[in-house]
Amino acid sequence: MGDSVNMTLDQQVTRLIRPEIRALQAYPVADASGMIKLDAMENPYQWPEELVSDWQQRLADCDLNRYPHPTAPEVIAGLRQAMAIPDTYDVLLGNGSDEIIQLLAMAVAQPGATVLAPEPGFVMYKMIATYLGLRYVAVNLQADFSLDVEAMIAAINAQQPALIFLAQPNNPTGNLWAEDDLHAIIQASQGIVVIDEAYLPFSSRNHLSWLDRYEHVLVMRTLSKAGLAGLRLGLLIGRPAWLHEINKLRMPYNINVLTQASATFALQHYDVLQEQCELLRQQREWLMLELERLSLIVFPSEANFVLVRCPDHNARALFEHLQQHKILIKCLDGGHPLLDQCLRITVGKPLENRALIEALQAYRSV
Ligand SMILES: *Cc1c(COP(=O)(O)O)cnc(C)c1O
Repeated sequence: MGDSVNMTLDQQVTRLIRPEIRALQAYPVADASGMIKLDAMENPYQWPEELVSDWQQRLADCDLNRYPHPTAPEVIAGLRQAMAIPDTYDVLLGNGSDEIIQLLAMAVAQPGATVLAPEPGFVMYKMIATYLGLRYVAVNLQADFSLDVEAMIAAINAQQPALIFLAQPNNPTGNLWAEDDLHAIIQASQGIVVIDEAYLPFSSRNHLSWLDRYEHVLVMRTLSKAGLAGLRLGLLIGRPAWLHEINKLRMPYNINVLTQASATFALQHYDVLQEQCELLRQQREWLMLELERLSLIVFPSEANFVLVRCPDHNARALFEHLQQHKILIKCLDGGHPLLDQCLRITVGKPLENRALIEALQAYRSV
């Protein structure tokens, strides 16, 4: 390798790979084999058997030797129908909404451009900003996880972010922010404001109509949390003027043949997923009451997970105790100062939730 002939491989890596990339840790995914999986906001339910066989038939009819349709019109039509998306707005598809976050960041990545998000929040906003060499500004939420509007507006005025992410409901806190606070932030922003509705199937609020009111707002959604996490399909909804530009950055075949066939099929049976989400919402209420009875501090949730704080300062010990009982949740303690002694628990099936509560009761009685 020319000049690098006397360099070790480690030295070549150090020379060529950007320092901020070398400093990153790869996105951590815990090994969950054999465990009750309550860590990743997945829908735990399967499809009814007849649906599975109809779906398999669709897959059998796919032409894997052909490139996929570059714009997946059947998927988009299915999404428009299932989510009542007006024709006045464009829809852009991503390989998960993670890819859409990346496309948005790429679109604004000029020298000095800034991405802003409240924290604690979804970690991919910061990760992707870093991948692309963008400046990233975090503004802390208040202790009760409401927005610190004054701090947000001060940061917006000082930093002029090109892109602001507002997850509603927020991950990992699970709450919705006051509408007035959101309006104040959107009105203060000269950049694009993305409302990330990843948890819409579990939420009491939908922000699609905010697109009518604000030219600089985009709405991002995903099928992951509703029950298709393995498929990797996210969508961005907004004015054609924005989406026309962002679409140029999309790889032409980012939604593969199997995903297109599966999503088209799933959207024709979207009511099945919605019923499952309704069951999970009911289970969420049960789980929150049971967690409160165990004297944990339970935060309000509009998502398919519950954030709790351990007043006895034993979050890590509880997490490890559950792991020994083959139950995997997410320990957030140490991740952000506002998440001190916090655990995030994804809502599972009734039997899984009961197993969790029983394991927590067992911990208290030893
Ligand atoms: C899970 C999640 C996403 C990512 O969803 P994918 O479509 O699976 O990439 C986006 N935003 C938030 C806030 C999430 O929690």
